[in-house]
Amino acid sequence: MLRMPRVEAQREQIPVLRALLPCADRVLPYLRRIDETRLYSNHGPLSIEFERRLADKLQLPGGGLVSASSGTAALVGAILAAAGRATPERPLAIVPAFTFSATAAAVEQCGYRPYLADVDAESWMLDPEPLLSHPECNRIGVAVPVAPFGRPVPQDPWRRFRAATGIPVVIDGAASFVGLAERPAKFLGAIPVAISFHATKAFATGEGGAVATNDVFLAQRCAQALNFGISGMRDCQMASTNGKMSEYHAAVGLAELDGWSEKLTAWLRVAALYQQQMTDAGLIDRLCVAPDIGPNYVLLRCRGAAEANWVEHCLREDGIDSRLWYGSGLQHQTYYARLPRDLLNVTGDIAPSLIGLPVAPDLDGEIIRRVVTTLAAASVK
Ligand SMILES: *Cc1c(COP(=O)(O)O)cnc(C)c1O
Repeated sequence: MLRMPRVEAQREQIPVLRALLPCADRVLPYLRRIDETRLYSNHGPLSIEFERRLADKLQLPGGGLVSASSGTAALVGAILAAAGRATPERPLAIVPAFTFSATAAAVEQCGYRPYLADVDAESWMLDPEPLLSHPECNRIGVAVPVAPFGRPVPQDPWRRFRAATGIPVVIDGAASFVGLAERPAKFLGAIPVAISFHATKAFATGEGGAVATNDVFLAQRCAQALNFGISGMRDCQMASTNGKMSEYHAAVGLAELDGWSEKLTAWLRVAALYQQQMTDAGLIDRLCVAPDIGPNYVLLRCRGAAEANWVEHCLREDGIDSRLWYGSGLQHQTYYARLPRDLLNVTGDIAPSLIGLPVAPDLDGEIIRRVVTTLAAASVK
């Protein structure tokens, strides 16, 4: 664990994630269209075009993709459409402890008390099988499996779970856009998937999101839930919120679609560079990158929290930011510490030991070399 004293001068701080969205010139033609139509929100022409192009990309039927103001809003819309608000008989929403706090925030907005379940050690996801005989099964109003670090959740096991229990399911697929587009037949279907287009995600509009499903009737209800419960007539017909995407965000989204194939290539180049340099350093078995997970994450698997702390310390010393993207699990977030829960052994093991390393679609190979050199010096072997 001994390290050589550093002789180099202080170098530039490396952020853990440096987002890159379409530049102003790329967005401008779309903004001009907004000037012409004077339509700024409420399903204007840009958000309709954005939805149509995204539905095509994800091989969904027309109307199968509903844009939203954020990934969290998309989750709320999908939950209200698929399950409605919590009831006294079914007050609980089952969510994995291994996720970003937005999953729990969304179910709470729909009146549910999150119930924290553990994830599978291999997939890092909720496993529907053991939930079938869960002691709280009769009090669960909705299940919200999460795509961890953008690794998409397969539809089939959850469709079977829904059929066997009658419990509605909404997938938090926030960061899984790349995986969904890669294999829509496996990862999209009757179970609605909420996607985030936050600036930190691979495909981004700044803030934004969408619900994706091949159930067009359900998609229509999601759109209604995200628009004050209104559909057609000016009559609120269901529990709702305002979670629509504005025309300005749709403008960025259309520009992002225009440049998407180059951006995806750039993301995958970063994953490949990490792979190559970690192989050269003898650390490849510690690396987790796309296509196993979303390309906006590069993860280092540590043996436990102690090693992870040490590695993060060494990175910090060398001016390199890192992040435990899901903290140590929801059970350790102050506000969520008292939630009802199962034993969370797997989450307790993996959450504090998966370190997010620096990423950006245009991350320089030299910076990756700096990161890997620091990891090698920290004796991660
Ligand atoms: C990013 C993320 C969200 C939230 O998406 P927003 O667009 O920021 O609201 C929810 N769940 C997970 C797992 C995420 O990674």
